[in-house]
Amino acid sequence: MDENRGICIVAELTPEGRLADVTLELVEKSLELKKKLNNEPVSVILLAPETNLEDIISELSKAGTDKVLVSKNKNFTTYSTEFFSKAAVEIINKVKPSVVLIGATTQGRDLAPRISSLLNTGLTADCTGLDINDKGQLAATRPTFGGNLMATILCKTFPQMATVRPKVMPMGPLNHETDATVEEFTFDFEHIKDNVEILNFIRNIESSGIENADIVVAGGKGMKSAENFKILEELADVLGGSVAASRAVVDAGWRPVSEQVGQTGKTIRPKIYIACGISGAVQHTVGMEQSGTIIAINSDPNAPVFSIATYGIIGDVFDVVPALTKKLKDIKKTR
Ligand SMILES: Cc1cc2nc3c(=O)[nH]c(=O)nc-3n(C[C@H](O)[C@H](O)[C@H](O)COP(=O)(O)OP(=O)(O)OC[C@H]3O[C@@H](n4cnc5c(N)ncnc54)[C@H](O)[C@@H]3O)c2cc1C
Repeated sequence: MDENRGICIVAELTPEGRLADVTLELVEKSLELKKKLNNEPVSVILLAPETNLEDIISELSKAGTDKVLVSKNKNFTTYSTEFFSKAAVEIINKVKPSVVLIGATTQGRDLAPRISSLLNTGLTADCTGLDINDKGQLAATRPTFGGNLMATILCKTFPQMATVRPKVMPMGPLNHETDATVEEFTFDFEHIKDNVEILNFIRNIESSGIENADIVVAGGKGMKSAENFKILEELADVLGGSVAASRAVVDAGWRPVSEQVGQTGKTIRPKIYIACGISGAVQHTVGMEQSGTIIAINSDPNAPVFSIATYGIIGDVFDVVPALTKKLKDIKKTR
């Protein structure tokens, strides 16, 4: 539709009230897409309780957002499908963006389908790539057929909606100098009944923390047994990192599913990823190839993991890993 212009992101806040990283990742991606959309504006919908939002608005502005569409309401204190979808849909209907992006988080996976059905438009969920094609349409790429194929999907209706996995796209620098314009929206929720009552928030204690670790030491089937992961734990310990695993390892019951990296696991981008006894199947590398430095240790010189590794060590993990840990410990002692 000709009247639809620009990209609109629905922001997510953490339970502590900070901007979720995925929102900034989407802003950075939108700045790239904007260039192919005749510089149409990038706006962010910010639904938050009646607190001071100056810092969050300033962060969005420094990330390059053109417009922040704010609504403060006590009903936005915790996430609610009813209130968030109603507010987002009303704002989207006023702003008429061409593209709407939402993080494929637990919250986003609940919110996005509700918004798309209320707007009667299409949604490409859980995308790993976004582009604008030569016709100016959103080309949203996501895995399909159980991860065996990548499909690029176009949406015929407006706005074109997509959810994007966290950590798939990089965050940009917070150095934009132009101030974002802020527009406020108010809602009267008097007549809306929330069907869900939040009793309490309990953190997922099974969460492995690999999503936020700067250094990840990952083990594959080449580790041979669950017990052998001890040497990876020791390496992770000395580096202050976390342990992750391939699916083959999780399927074998050696490590918990919360540590699985890849297509059907988590997507992470630590500063350093050390792959130990991992072959480098595409379903694994898709979850870690954006890491800053990839170090692969594998006894097979032809292992595919070496094609994406920054540094490759051809050797036996049971020789290399303990030697590495010892060396690092020695270095630490001399400091
Ligand atoms: C739909 C679908 C989704 C999938 N999703 C995922 C996913 O999310 N994550 C994922 O990881 N996989 C996923 N897979 C599985 C993926 O295709 C691979 O089978 C899996 O990643 C292989 O795990 P691996 O590298 O640990 O094991 P292997 O492929 O068995 O590789 C073991 C490696 O260890 C090396 N090795 C053996 N002994 C030693 C030693 N002593 N020292 C050094 N190196 C040694 C070998 O040379 C080999 O390269 C998926 C598959 C499908 C079909």
